[in-house]
Order: sequence, then C-alpha cells, then structure tokens
Amino acid sequence: MSLFFKTFQLFIIATITNFFICKILKIPFFPSIDKDFTQKRINLIINILIMCILPDIFRYMNIIRFSTLPEHLPTKISLYILSFDAIYALVHFSQHKWFEWTHKEHHDSTLYPGYAFVYSPIDSLCLQICMYSPFYFGLHFTQYTWYLAMFLIIFSGFMGHSHRGWVDTHLKHHQRPHEGRYSFTGIPEHILSMLK
Ligand SMILES: [Zn+2]
Ligand SMILES: [Zn+2]
Repeated sequence: MSLFFKTFQLFIIATITNFFICKILKIPFFPSIDKDFTQKRINLIINILIMCILPDIFRYMNIIRFSTLPEHLPTKISLYILSFDAIYALVHFSQHKWFEWTHKEHHDSTLYPGYAFVYSPIDSLCLQICMYSPFYFGLHFTQYTWYLAMFLIIFSGFMGHSHRGWVDTHLKHHQRPHEGRYSFTGIPEHILSMLK
C-alpha cells in the first residue's frame, strides 16, 4: 500500500478519535464562529496533502527504509517519538526566530483541536520533515511501529491544542509563544523538569 494512503488513513483515524474524545469531554473541536474558517480549511487541505505526499517521496529517496526484523514495540515507539520531538523542538525554536514568515499563522489561530494542523505550508513542511527525523539518524523501524508512532504524534498534536490540556506544554506555549516550550508532545520539557 502506498504510504500516501496509509498516512491519510492514520490522519483520518486520529481526527475521528479526537473528535469523539472532544465530544465526550465537552471540548469544542472548532470555534462556533470564525470569519477565516474557509481560508483555514484550504490551508488544512494543503497541509494534509504535504503530510501524505512526503512519505512516498522519502521512501523513493531511500530516506525511509522499513525494517522487517522483530522489535520491542514500546521501546521503538518511544525512541521514534523522542527523536522526532528533539529535532522538532530545535526547528520550532528557529521558527520563532523567523516567526512572521514561518509560524505566525499557526499562533494567530485560536486554540482548538480542529485547528491543530492549521498553519502556513512552510510551517507544515517544517513539521512534516521533522516527522521523519528518526530515519535521518539511520534508525530502523518496522512500518507498523512507524504507523503507531505517527498516530500518537498526530493524536497528541490534536490534544495539545485543547483547553483541557492533557499535555499542557503546548497550551502554555500558545499562551506565551516566545517563552519556550517548543516541543510537540511536551515530553522533553517534562523529562528536563524531572532532572532539575
Ligand atoms: Zn500549536
Ligand atoms: Zn510556536
């Protein structure tokens, strides 16, 4: 199966799961009124296309190479998420240095799970390139591990934009954008605070 459809499938499953979790927790998924809603939907479609096209390009370029060897799933998923988030935190930090051109649109969006993946195409490309950063280190994962790790990253992306803040790091980042907390999942900041 093409990775385009695999990625699209996991994005849709993550969206539907989050939508129903938000319904159960009575968290609004979208704001009731937004005059820029059409523009945001267009950007969301562009971002989903970037998200789904990139894995096949990376596989064609031999950047993504799936292993077929048995692996310890929790360890490899943790390794994937942590190595992704370490790179993402650095890229996100640099985006705040070129804020107007790369990242302003995301911070201008009000904080709702349905807007988690609304940002400019440049921002989208930065995030999606980071999504595959574990492969740049020569790490190998089975396709199943990659799929689950991607699902968890996308899932925490949605939940990180909810006011209930299950991982509240990104919520705090949106409240005070230039004060830090640049990771995607909040896990690196939690590890650093535990080490202090
Ligand atoms: Zn955000
Ligand atoms: Zn930011």
